[in-house]
Amino acid sequence: MTALNVAKFGGTSVADATAMNNCADIVLGNPATRLVVLSASAGVTNLLVALAQGELNDEERAEQLARLQQIQFAILNDLGNPPAVQEAILAQLAEIEAMSRQACLHTDAELADRLIACGEMMSTRLFTELLTQRGARATWIDVRQLMRTDSRFGKASVELDATRAQCQQQVGPLLGDSIIVTQGFIGADAQGRTTTLGRGGSDYSAALLGEALGATSIEIWTDVPGIYTTDPRLVVHARPIPEISFAEAAEMATFGAKVLHPSTLQPAVRSDIPVFVGSSKDPAAGGTWIRAKTDATPLFRAVALRRNQVLVTLHSPNMFHAYGFLAEVFGILARHRISVDLITTSEVSVSLTLDHTGSQSNGEATLSDKVLAELGELCKVKVESGLTLVALIGNRMSEMSGVGSQVFATLEDHNIRMICYGASAHNLCFLVGESEATAVLNKLHQALIG
Ligand code: ADP
Ligand code: ASP
Ligand code: MG
Repeated sequence: MTALNVAKFGGTSVADATAMNNCADIVLGNPATRLVVLSASAGVTNLLVALAQGELNDEERAEQLARLQQIQFAILNDLGNPPAVQEAILAQLAEIEAMSRQACLHTDAELADRLIACGEMMSTRLFTELLTQRGARATWIDVRQLMRTDSRFGKASVELDATRAQCQQQVGPLLGDSIIVTQGFIGADAQGRTTTLGRGGSDYSAALLGEALGATSIEIWTDVPGIYTTDPRLVVHARPIPEISFAEAAEMATFGAKVLHPSTLQPAVRSDIPVFVGSSKDPAAGGTWIRAKTDATPLFRAVALRRNQVLVTLHSPNMFHAYGFLAEVFGILARHRISVDLITTSEVSVSLTLDHTGSQSNGEATLSDKVLAELGELCKVKVESGLTLVALIGNRMSEMSGVGSQVFATLEDHNIRMICYGASAHNLCFLVGESEATAVLNKLHQALIG
């Protein structure tokens, strides 16, 4: 089998020309890397989201546009302002300006996606030029010709068969003689309208494109040398994990380890493609390989944390020995395309947290007033926020005795709001108050992993 590697670079990796040059070193250093997937330069998507929300006054809007221009012009300048690329960036900035004006009059999810997608369009133009200046044959491709999605703007679902067919038709024949550079995060529906896959979605794009093209490896290059035992920004003793299984890494991504978008591993698992995570600034530091099976299978591997959790408690006396109550609740959530994360039940109530996986690109809330009203017709609804989900990840956790006592003895000073354990051999999850989260993370890490 011929080696085919897909390399994805995140926002900090393409923040400026110096960072982009590090990425070019990585791409050019591996002849198997034929497809490069990029995020927008650091900060750009946030600026675009603010513009898309349409709530800025003229002065604030001008300020956001100026910051955007500054980021792109700095890179363009370092590339020597090549006329064709300069023209493309100027056209894109003019389009952003026009769309942001329109958003202030009336914004909707479709316009928001068209605007938010512009960051990746610009970073890929600039990086293609940089690779060309470094002597490579590089071809820029608009991923909207490849990534087919439904029309759910802000959090579109990918249509796998159409995406595979388009990739094989349009990219397959080019891979032999050119490095293809394309955008993460973006897709297009059947009418060709721009969609996005949810914040942080470029990791997922890389995995999907890799799967569609029969890649033999996928590399996620970011600002940390691999997946750590917990977020290194929150726990100083966190350490990189050299090798981790798909199952464990998927749990980490689902429960808040931002280093991977939660859906990234789905294509990799489906097609058994190993995934590497490393630092584009320091590739020599190594990183993490994620594979189907690993040599080490520790009981406790890592801890992840997901903030801003919403706990919904539904109370109904009709639940007592009744059939169908949960089916009705899940029916309402399904109609609004909300999936449930954690769930616990009692005699007359059920508590659940809602899945923020791939949360909306445009920052819209999952739990709308409409959903609450529909649930309210069925039962009494209580919504609590200010909570953080903590997930302990490992192996055979549901089969071993003493796991609960080890975990909760460490946390006896904290109020644990809800616990989920036993559904998977790979996790134990619970909710704590937002203000306690970092302390809980540190204590668990020190007692069980560090
Ligand atoms: P990119 O822009 O490259 O996609 P992200 O900011 O999305 O990068 O993801 C990288 C960040 O993920 C790191 O800087 C780190 O703070 C955070 N992170 C959270 N949990 C972990 C973890 N377990 N291991 C490594 N990084 C983690
Ligand atoms: N640029 C997008 C974001 O900031 C997608 C990504 O970086 O993965 O969410
Ligand atoms: Mg990311």
